[in-house]
Amino acid sequence: MSVLEQKLASLTAAGRFDICSPGECIRLLSASTHINYSRRAGGCGRMLKVLLHGTCSYDCAYCSVRLQREHLSFTPEELAGTFLGLWQEGLVGGLFLSSGIARDVDIVMHDIVETGEILRQRGYDGYLHLKVLPGATRADIHDAARVADRISINLETTSPDRLGCIAGVKDYRQDILKRQAWVAEEKPGHHTTQVVVGAADETDAEILSCLADRYRRVRPSRVYFAAFRSLPGTPLATHPDTPAWRARRWYQADYLLRDYAVTPDELRAALGEEGFFPNRDPKEILADGRMPVNVNRAPRHDLLRVPGIGPKGADRIIALRRVRPFTGPADLVRAGIRGKAAGRHLTFGGRETVQTRLAL
Ligand code: SF4
Repeated sequence: MSVLEQKLASLTAAGRFDICSPGECIRLLSASTHINYSRRAGGCGRMLKVLLHGTCSYDCAYCSVRLQREHLSFTPEELAGTFLGLWQEGLVGGLFLSSGIARDVDIVMHDIVETGEILRQRGYDGYLHLKVLPGATRADIHDAARVADRISINLETTSPDRLGCIAGVKDYRQDILKRQAWVAEEKPGHHTTQVVVGAADETDAEILSCLADRYRRVRPSRVYFAAFRSLPGTPLATHPDTPAWRARRWYQADYLLRDYAVTPDELRAALGEEGFFPNRDPKEILADGRMPVNVNRAPRHDLLRVPGIGPKGADRIIALRRVRPFTGPADLVRAGIRGKAAGRHLTFGGRETVQTRLAL
């Protein structure tokens, strides 16, 4: 293996902890080069996820990069050239670039931006996602937003106090929230963030409050949820892992907030007494507390709250029922609605609001 291949193998392996697609799947690009890539990310097929620097001077207790003693790094020139080679061969369709903060944060952030600039100057017109490091300057965030399709800064957890439990260097308000506000101004509608669920023992109620605030103030286009995994040698090595289902429930809850116009206050009703979601679709929990709705009369707002009906399904129902009322489950199936999920929560009334409750 050449030196560059060794770097690529090591720095793509280290880059796998940044999530850029729900349910993403890390695969080896080729058995010979051991390059990791992420499937289903960014809509670009194979996404190369890689770090510029494989070590970090920060102390985040959940992170393996802080432990690396061997200082493997790409220069911007090396990484841009290596990526372009893979892209021109058709092996990858996009780049997600992050980095450990091996030295001064400004130097590393500048290197991230420079890598993006080299790629664009050399004709790369594919998907480019650049990570904004905590504490990055406004000028570097501006430049990252100029060359990238998407930029992101990780929240990691929910509050200054929670971050203080797992990271001693980063300042939540200054290094993360303030920078996230700049990110939102520089790349409105095209910025994301990530929460490491369970790393700081936060409750789902705390995550919900945090996201409600973030959606209100900076409107991230996506929030990614990584279930905490303990890593040997880190201060959290004996901390219990977060079950994968908890992150999955967060993706479902987040869809409700973003795409279904469910308010944070509504969603709070799906939390248990201890402030955690049970291992069940939050939409089903909320629907169980409501009366069934009439598929022929319900406004879009109510249809969207029925399990099995999404934004497209609700629009289809509204269009179809103008032509002919729904009379039974077969009409739902014809409209592409998952009858089993929706049936318990729908009625097919004519004049009466509750006439035929399905038992599918
Ligand atoms: S800043 Fe923290 S999370 Fe990011 S690479 Fe460094 S130690 Fe890891």
